[in-house]
Amino acid sequence: MACPVNGARSKRVDTLTVKSLVRKLPVGMPNTQYYFCDASDCEVVYFALDAEAPRFRREDLLVRVGAKETADPIPICYCFGFTRQEIWDEIRSTGKSGVAERIAAEVEAGRCACEVKNPTGKCCLGEVARAAKYGLRLLHASTI
Ligand SMILES: [Zn+2]
Repeated sequence: MACPVNGARSKRVDTLTVKSLVRKLPVGMPNTQYYFCDASDCEVVYFALDAEAPRFRREDLLVRVGAKETADPIPICYCFGFTRQEIWDEIRSTGKSGVAERIAAEVEAGRCACEVKNPTGKCCLGEVARAAKYGLRLLHASTI
């Protein structure tokens, strides 16, 4: 589904995620399918197809939306609070990142809560891997 503001292709998000992370839910909010816009240059986080349904912007959420942030702290894992900087710091001092393994062990043990903590409603492991890969590239280019 395309974001009505910037046209970015957006994925479905569970209503529970929207209800959990929007600071103040509007009274009479329709029960409808919401989508998550992950474009960093777009202020809209959640939108619905239903034109009557309110859209939610960055400032409407209780948490910083990692995908929308360009300045630190950029949250990557919402369950255990890892930021991009922490992943990069570990890479800078040890040459690798063990964050994904640590999170995977927590997920395995059933201790994550992505659907109510992560604005995407999804597990952060893909984002963690991407941040680590980028950090390694920066390390090799000696820019972190
Ligand atoms: Zn958008």
